[in-house]
Amino acid sequence: MQPKDLLAIAEEFGNPLYVYDAATIEQQYNRLTAAFAKVENLRLNYAMKALSNLTILKLLKKCGSGLDTVSMQEVQLGLHAGFTADKIIFTPNGVSFEEIEEVAKLGVQINIDNLSILEHFGTKYPKVPVCIRINPHVMAGGNANISVGHIDSKFGISIYQMPHVLRIVENTGMHINGIHMHTGSDILDIEVFLYAAEILFDTAKQFKQLDFLDFGSGFKVPYKKGDIETNIEELGKKLTKRFLSFEKEYGRSLTLAFEPGKFLVSEAGYFLAKVNVVKQTTSTVFAGIDSGFNHLIRPMLYGSQHTIENISNPKGKERFYTVVGYICETDTFANNRRIPEIKEGDTLCFKNAGAYCFSMASNYNSRFKPAEVLWKDGKGHLITKRETFEDLIKNQIEVAL
Ligand SMILES: *Cc1c(COP(=O)(O)O)cnc(C)c1O
Repeated sequence: MQPKDLLAIAEEFGNPLYVYDAATIEQQYNRLTAAFAKVENLRLNYAMKALSNLTILKLLKKCGSGLDTVSMQEVQLGLHAGFTADKIIFTPNGVSFEEIEEVAKLGVQINIDNLSILEHFGTKYPKVPVCIRINPHVMAGGNANISVGHIDSKFGISIYQMPHVLRIVENTGMHINGIHMHTGSDILDIEVFLYAAEILFDTAKQFKQLDFLDFGSGFKVPYKKGDIETNIEELGKKLTKRFLSFEKEYGRSLTLAFEPGKFLVSEAGYFLAKVNVVKQTTSTVFAGIDSGFNHLIRPMLYGSQHTIENISNPKGKERFYTVVGYICETDTFANNRRIPEIKEGDTLCFKNAGAYCFSMASNYNSRFKPAEVLWKDGKGHLITKRETFEDLIKNQIEVAL
């Protein structure tokens, strides 16, 4: 999006503000489907925890997407947005058996990642098809080496426990209709991903009635100059080839599924915040913005480096700034970052603010969550109102003392 459009939107809807470009989301969706065009049954389930606004869900539904959900509430939001139960997959971790039961009763595909739950579920509902989330114990190392270091991850059923899984399946007579993996690490090296895929294929051979193989996500998007990005087209080419040959070997037509979050929405998002103060100390120039980790926690939580632009002065002379928030503890967005000269009252724009930004926002310091705007067809549409004081107190019960 153009700085002038973002500035106009900030003018119209106020700061701080999240803006999402609909065209970018559609492009990313189409790019992924194009990369796997040779797969007859491709299914993309948007991992909605990245950004769960109803209008965004509707936009992705229109693209043809399904949904990947991790809580009963996400399932409910998905249904509310118009997704039918058969377009939703539930991939929880550590939730109660009751929650899984409740979701299964809605007709949503269940993905189980725990032996005890598998046994319990299979015993109680042997007729409900279930997908199994495996942990292939493959981790992409920084220098593209293959390691089995992920052994301690809480996600998935270890491939070393497959004999136990098979015993449960046999004893309960349950129907396993899918095998899934999502390691949570970025796909930096396609060969490493394909190596993990081989483990999934190997596992899949042990189940005769599969309908789909789900390769999770891990598509990496660049956050700053020089960042590695997953080469989707190369991945599409290589995995498609291997998938088609596996399908032949398996002797049954299968759906290839992915559940991208970040890839679909990260680059579509912009977070806009006004500069309240510029503070020169003996060694640093701080730009203090009208926000904090209550609105955007990724830099503090994960060390994510969101590119920051000064859209009020995009052509200004660059200087070094440490961009901080207004929260009463350390909340540094960027350290000594080169940014066009900042004046108090300028609007800064954080890029890659579509995924895990608004959805992780809180009311810390009793601040309102920002508004959200969808930029579509050259116009900004308000999709979430800014909170008000009423929102802050609506669930509180004032006890007479
Ligand atoms: C969060 C999550 C995803 C999405 O991951 P991204 O890195 O945002 O693409 C996919 N699958 C599962 C099971 C997840 O928990």
